[in-house]
Amino acid sequence: MVRTNQSNEALTKDEKYIWHSMKPYNPDATMVVTKAEGVWVTDNEGNKYLDAMSGLWCVNVGYGRTELAKAAYEQLNELAYFPLTQSHLPAIKLGEKLNEMLGDEYVIFFSNSGSEANETAFKIVRQYHQQKGDSHRNKFISRYRGYHGNTMGALAATGQAERKYKYEPLATGFIHVTPPDLYRSVDRLDCAPSELESVREIDRVMTWELSDTIAGVIMEPIITGGGVLMPPDGYLSAVKEVCKKHGALLIVDEVICGFGRTGEAFGFMNYGVKPDIITMAKGITSGYLPLSATAVRKEIYDAFKGSEQYDYLRHVNTFGGNPAACALALKNLEIMENENLFERSKQLGEILKNDLMNHLQNHPYVGDVRGKGLLIGIELVDNKETKEPIDVSVVNQVIASCKQKGVIIGKNGATVAGYNNVLTLAPPLCIEEEELTILIQTLIEALNEVK
Ligand code: PLP
Repeated sequence: MVRTNQSNEALTKDEKYIWHSMKPYNPDATMVVTKAEGVWVTDNEGNKYLDAMSGLWCVNVGYGRTELAKAAYEQLNELAYFPLTQSHLPAIKLGEKLNEMLGDEYVIFFSNSGSEANETAFKIVRQYHQQKGDSHRNKFISRYRGYHGNTMGALAATGQAERKYKYEPLATGFIHVTPPDLYRSVDRLDCAPSELESVREIDRVMTWELSDTIAGVIMEPIITGGGVLMPPDGYLSAVKEVCKKHGALLIVDEVICGFGRTGEAFGFMNYGVKPDIITMAKGITSGYLPLSATAVRKEIYDAFKGSEQYDYLRHVNTFGGNPAACALALKNLEIMENENLFERSKQLGEILKNDLMNHLQNHPYVGDVRGKGLLIGIELVDNKETKEPIDVSVVNQVIASCKQKGVIIGKNGATVAGYNNVLTLAPPLCIEEEELTILIQTLIEALNEVK
């Protein structure tokens, strides 16, 4: 990459002042992005990239939507802030809209990030059981390779060891189980969903831990950042049945899967299940402003109406449900609806997956191409028979080559035992077919270079 004086200066200051998340700092791999439009981002040297990761899996309607800026601007002029200890119209309208999308009665608690939405869910679930007199129910079950956030509870729920390393002890009471994964499955598939090994494991763990100590289960409909791990179709509803049997609540983390990413409004809708709690963030505003939500079934909310001193939810969030963020979210959802983006995600996702499969099935390192909607994972293996993960240096080489050719793709975050071998694609849902072709061709070229 050729650096100009201007970009060198920005990077020198960046290194001095900005603490980046994740990787060790590498100025050669860092770009300073100055503008973006549609699926394209431009850096301060004028290089344009097709962003096939929607930032961090969030810019669902694409960049540069002036209607969103206008909605926020108008709301800021009207009412810039008021806490949701009281109320305001944008939050009420957004709550109503989310109910319409969820197709059932949910009461919404607004926060600012996916992590907070999950923390809120954990507190609500624990308190709910207490309110019902079930005072021993405090444990949560989540899955290895799943990610649920960076805060002490959400990170405890996360099943990616490298993200927790050196930060422990985290919140207690989180137990991990094996996720289903159609490619490397622990599951035999010729059985009823309730007999799937990954479902039986949850049932067993709940029994061994004592049913009446289990508060809830949290899972993404499809594990996203952990490697786009596809479950068998009946898995999620079988988990819900196990939850019911043991008196636990099911929290579905829709932080990435929500808002059309998997071709439905919410990921769980692919699997015909009604979660007790749904957490959402990212796509709710397409990343334009921070906002997240914890949607709680009405019956659970009703348990918080007792008359004891501490029966209400004692959980306050200063910025959660900011009026401008809510107004922007409403406009964002309107765009999704007007442009039929969920259906578009479903259709383009099929094209993307099938094209990649057709072109890459004979590639020696491509073990699997999978996903739903515009959420795609390409698992690279050293040996297709043994499914030994490919060395991460090859994954990084493909990512770097794509970037050099002007396309940003991602990789999964579960790095323990070499399992950071899945390339990930999650482009904005408004991607045009010609842009999809650029993405496909670039990826194929980059993969052919490492054959
Ligand atoms: N849940 C899932 C599935 C996520 O992918 C993420 C973030 O990537 C989170 C929760 C946490 O969201 P945030 O980074 O907004 O706190």
